[in-house]
Amino acid sequence: MRCLLFACLLLGSFPSFALDRFQVEGYPLRNGLQLLLKPGAERGHVAIRLVVGVGIDDFSCAEKELPHLLEHLLFSGVDASGEGGLEERMQALGGEWNAFTSNADTTFVIEAPAKNQRKVLDLLLALLTQTRFDDNAISAAKQVVEREDGGHYSHLQRWLDRQDLGHTASNQLAVELGLKCSERAQVGQLTREQLEKVREDWYAPNNMTLIVVGDLDRLLPAYLDRTYGALKPIVPTDHPALPQIQASAAHERNLTLGFVGGGAKLHWLVPEPVLEDQHDETFDLLKDYLDWALYRQLRLAHGLSYGPWAEREVFGGVGFMSLNADLERDDVDEALKVLDELKAGLLKDGLNAQTFNRLKQAAIARQAWAVQGNSALADYYWSAIGDYEDGRFADPARELQGVTLEEANKAMRELLMQPGYVRIEKPLLSDDQLLWAIAGVLGLLVLGLVGWRIHRSR
Ligand SMILES: [Zn+2]
Repeated sequence: MRCLLFACLLLGSFPSFALDRFQVEGYPLRNGLQLLLKPGAERGHVAIRLVVGVGIDDFSCAEKELPHLLEHLLFSGVDASGEGGLEERMQALGGEWNAFTSNADTTFVIEAPAKNQRKVLDLLLALLTQTRFDDNAISAAKQVVEREDGGHYSHLQRWLDRQDLGHTASNQLAVELGLKCSERAQVGQLTREQLEKVREDWYAPNNMTLIVVGDLDRLLPAYLDRTYGALKPIVPTDHPALPQIQASAAHERNLTLGFVGGGAKLHWLVPEPVLEDQHDETFDLLKDYLDWALYRQLRLAHGLSYGPWAEREVFGGVGFMSLNADLERDDVDEALKVLDELKAGLLKDGLNAQTFNRLKQAAIARQAWAVQGNSALADYYWSAIGDYEDGRFADPARELQGVTLEEANKAMRELLMQPGYVRIEKPLLSDDQLLWAIAGVLGLLVLGLVGWRIHRSR
């Protein structure tokens, strides 16, 4: 009976406790380290994310790879057993780890058995505080980073980038507008002093958030206070301002991508006007709407593109919406016409209320199953850190619900009224052009041969 009572209590309290994924216990330690602790639905496992507030955006073009290189170097080893010894210790605890450097942060991602959670956190703390790297480790890490970035940056690739031939359409536009570096960041010239300085300036508790989701140890808060709480805070460095549009770019351009082929890609890119309220939710819904409108027009009505798509991207401090289509090379002009008609129709008639509401309800429904399990929940908190306030994350379903048709229409009009930028990606030659080129060369050869024979017979 007691067991049954206990089970009822557990079942009764568990859903409200675990299923409200937006309610999370969060508090800073005295040294400024922000903690987010959330009991998850899955037993026996914890997902740990240590988010360090330093990313690619914090550095100039020549130094962009510094945080990424440092992230790799931190796995060099904490004692004489080196990189291999460190990995063996994690294996012995049954956990797995990895790290990622993005524009805004550097994050250490760990999955581990719940019973070893404190030992795994010990190992992460050792990595942060005891890693010493020498010149050998630095050159080894440089090779890995270079390989991750697509191999050695050759003279040819650099030349192509300078001629605007090596970038995809949206990246190319971002370079033209002064939002992105024109050449790929290099690691060769980065020094040990620079790396140590990044570590000193940014790897401090008051610039970190530790997220633990899952089968939490009862002693975790006390343990964290004793261990991570002993890290020394620093005077924080300000993040540099994100670049804004600094130059003008051509309204329409052709970009060469590849050598021969019959395909082409059409992109219409436009900066998103900044909305006072619910900017992201409104443009997310608008993206869904435009996605569907492109599909209806370019695929179903005109059969020009198999999978046209709308996309949101951020470059520097500017968000872009793009309308995109993969096409046959000869269909570009027709697709451009359909795209212009689609935009004109939306500007004239506004969004269709029924379609907008259906897509809005679908987006809200998606929220019910979008985040499943401890690891996905931890990733969600990582992605939404900025939305955490008073023990809660903002509920995206409620935010989406709040976007009205009028607001979406207003945002759509401000967006589509702009001329935007057309970028057409094509290979250098079409299949036919290649055939003609080969025929031309063969013809010249034959002419040369005939000429030579006439010359000899004389
Ligand atoms: Zn990497």
